[in-house]
Amino acid sequence: MKYIIYGVNRVAKDFLYMFEQLDILYFMDDTIEAKRFCGYEIKSIDDALQDCLYDQIIICDFEKEHKEGILQENGLQYRRDYIYEQDFFGELDSMSLPVDRKILVWGTGKMCHYFLGQGLEIPVAGFIDSYKRSDMFWGKPVFSPDEITDWKKYYVIIAVYDDQEIQKQLSEYGCIEEKDFVGYQKVVNLPSNMLKKTIFDKSYYHLECNTMFNHLEILDQGNTRCCCTTFVRPNLGNVLDKRSSEIWHSTLHRVLCLSTENRTFSFCDKSMCPLFVARGREESKKEDRAYKKLGTAPEVIALGYDPSCNLACSTCRKELYFAKGKELETINKITEIVKREYLPQCRFLILAGNGEVFASPAYREAYECEGCKPQYIRLLSNGMLFNQMNWERFMKGRTSRIMLTVSVDAASKETYESIRRNGNFDILKKNMEYASILRKTGELSYFRLNFVVQKENYKEMIPFVEWGQELGVDEIFFTKILNWGTYSQEEFEQISMMERDGITPKAELKEVLKHPVMNSTIVDLGTIQYAHKVDEADVVENYYMWELEKRGGLLFD
Ligand code: SF4
Ligand code: SF4
Repeated sequence: MKYIIYGVNRVAKDFLYMFEQLDILYFMDDTIEAKRFCGYEIKSIDDALQDCLYDQIIICDFEKEHKEGILQENGLQYRRDYIYEQDFFGELDSMSLPVDRKILVWGTGKMCHYFLGQGLEIPVAGFIDSYKRSDMFWGKPVFSPDEITDWKKYYVIIAVYDDQEIQKQLSEYGCIEEKDFVGYQKVVNLPSNMLKKTIFDKSYYHLECNTMFNHLEILDQGNTRCCCTTFVRPNLGNVLDKRSSEIWHSTLHRVLCLSTENRTFSFCDKSMCPLFVARGREESKKEDRAYKKLGTAPEVIALGYDPSCNLACSTCRKELYFAKGKELETINKITEIVKREYLPQCRFLILAGNGEVFASPAYREAYECEGCKPQYIRLLSNGMLFNQMNWERFMKGRTSRIMLTVSVDAASKETYESIRRNGNFDILKKNMEYASILRKTGELSYFRLNFVVQKENYKEMIPFVEWGQELGVDEIFFTKILNWGTYSQEEFEQISMMERDGITPKAELKEVLKHPVMNSTIVDLGTIQYAHKVDEADVVENYYMWELEKRGGLLFD
């Protein structure tokens, strides 16, 4: 098929980025301001319509009524002579919802509200609730599972926080995953739905962030992200199921990259990513700038797939945890894949987003392997094992530039050992003095201490900064505590030092923030947005590099 694109605008540009294989003859538009767009000729409507070389016209625009009206005035018909850009989106998906069965959503809680709030055009016929409390929800009937007699009449989208039990229940009813039911995240993350979200997003942020083009996080059970998992949630795929090139060149990854290229940043959590602090949203604009192509493989790899740790911090877990049995088998399989497919081309390695880098045999296996020769390594550690012996073993045969970040959260023995259970503040202090010497001699290129602000420790923020100054650290990084499911809502409100809105510090914290030491150049108030120093970065190659260079100076060549 040969096509003409009707519309010289950002929607058309985005469409072309996703469907570059289509045979496009040229663009046409109502008024012609330039001769070419995205490398194609632009013709007037009259010239284009006289041309008999095309098969169909593709309307590309945020609103289409005007363009459709003009085509209809010229006797053209929808589907025969012209179509919309979104008519192609379904081609990007590897699964689709059935059109011949009624769709029921299982769940009426928070996740269901989130799912319904995504604005997907799904004809939901009703809801299923394991503990039915009312007959109607969102204007549709609610069923309890035992009211459904013939499951084959329905297709179920599970929209609950933990769907394991419901999946098991549906399997017992004879239902098969994807054929008869699916998790809501899979539906939300279908490339067609994601593309719809970004292509028709009218936002524009004056920012160039290339992180998604060079970054891959390998997380629990082998799931992956192309930026920090706190900022960007869609899972690109699982390393256990797909080869690295399949994940990297997936349609979903392309859509995510498009969302930063078109400057909508539709999938970036703007309340979490510091690049958006004090950055205003503008209205969508058409730019001549060509969109970047994706490179062959990620150069920045962040590992966070082994929760094994020598501590049991109150914010993270109830007791000491080391992976074993089936979980350990999976972790070991991931390590083999990481060694084979990801580390050989890695330029910057980040260890470890989950668990402790010096306590996990899996991470050690990865960083000690033959192919692990990155130019730069960032170590994220709790510091308890950061001693001379482990450092020398880690550095054996290595020339990489090393940047160390240690999560501490306290300035006193009592608080440290209460928050970081199984930790020993005396050992930590000794290890941090050792790290301080390595920083002064240049063996470490950067040294930072982290502090997650909460009720138990906020009074120690000031002595913590003073301790950091004595050690000569490059940065003290404060962040607000987040609830990763460890606390109930009530518990969390007690523990958090932010008001319910999540962005305003409570009065007691505001008092601490007023202390002159908090204005020290080494202090970064991270996600405590109220007092965040605005970073005027307009071009960011990789978030983690940018974050380190903010206070560490030039670290990456
Ligand atoms: S670092 Fe870049 S890609 Fe990641 S959330 Fe922020 S703007 Fe988006
Ligand atoms: S050190 Fe990190 S991984 Fe270990 S328990 Fe504490 S927060 Fe969790």
